[in-house]
Amino acid sequence: MRKTIIAGNWKMYKTMQEADETIALLAEKLKGKATENTIYIATPFLFLDRLIQKYKSSSIHFGAQNINEHTDGAYTGEISGKMLESINCEFVLIGHSERREYYNESNATIYLKIKAALQHNLQPIFCCGERLEERNNNTHFETIQQQIEESIYLLTEEELQLTVIAYEPVWAIGTGLTASPEQAQEIHQHIRSLIENKFGKVAADACSILYGGSVKPSNAKTLFSQPDIDGGLVGGASLNAEDFYQIITAI
Ligand code: PEP
Repeated sequence: MRKTIIAGNWKMYKTMQEADETIALLAEKLKGKATENTIYIATPFLFLDRLIQKYKSSSIHFGAQNINEHTDGAYTGEISGKMLESINCEFVLIGHSERREYYNESNATIYLKIKAALQHNLQPIFCCGERLEERNNNTHFETIQQQIEESIYLLTEEELQLTVIAYEPVWAIGTGLTASPEQAQEIHQHIRSLIENKFGKVAADACSILYGGSVKPSNAKTLFSQPDIDGGLVGGASLNAEDFYQIITAI
């Protein structure tokens, strides 16, 4: 059975105090509630150590939004997998479209980052997705295929089993536009068949594929009820404890 995951991406928002208040509220709402879903939040690096320590008895798992592909070295301003592992960070977002676009991350670098995460016991959440012009040109299937072939296809089957995939159409991130459940399902099915072609049906069936792009309490249920959607990667709505709680309980 594949895991259902609801992951928040806080991007570059909140102060330490605001982060603490939001997690305290969310942890309180989740207390004593049995949920089958795994709850992840990717916070800015700065907050991770404190939140991991303070909320270790909650059901929230904390992760990073980026990782450097090297283990150590003269890379001013960067954070490595070795550092994240040393504070018990559990997962890391890799290849988010904002990193691909603003920091020129290529599929080749993204592959190295996935390897670095796995080497340090961090679960990679690999993000892929097409731009608006690619969807309008009807080349979105090829875009996703290339992103998967140039990174995920280079993993071993064991490495794939530890990796989560997030489909995030770039035109739906932070825009308020959401892929319709049918559009999202079509691409999730495409991704699963690409995984099956390379790694076989058992591996494809076990792979968690999340949808991201303006998920909100009002649309989470219909998106998450699609057969190939195994949860969500949520940006804006994860910043508010009540909204994120409603998304978590929408499944
Ligand atoms: C994201 O940042 O991964 C994201 C999906 O953002 P939003 O939910 O705000 O569109």
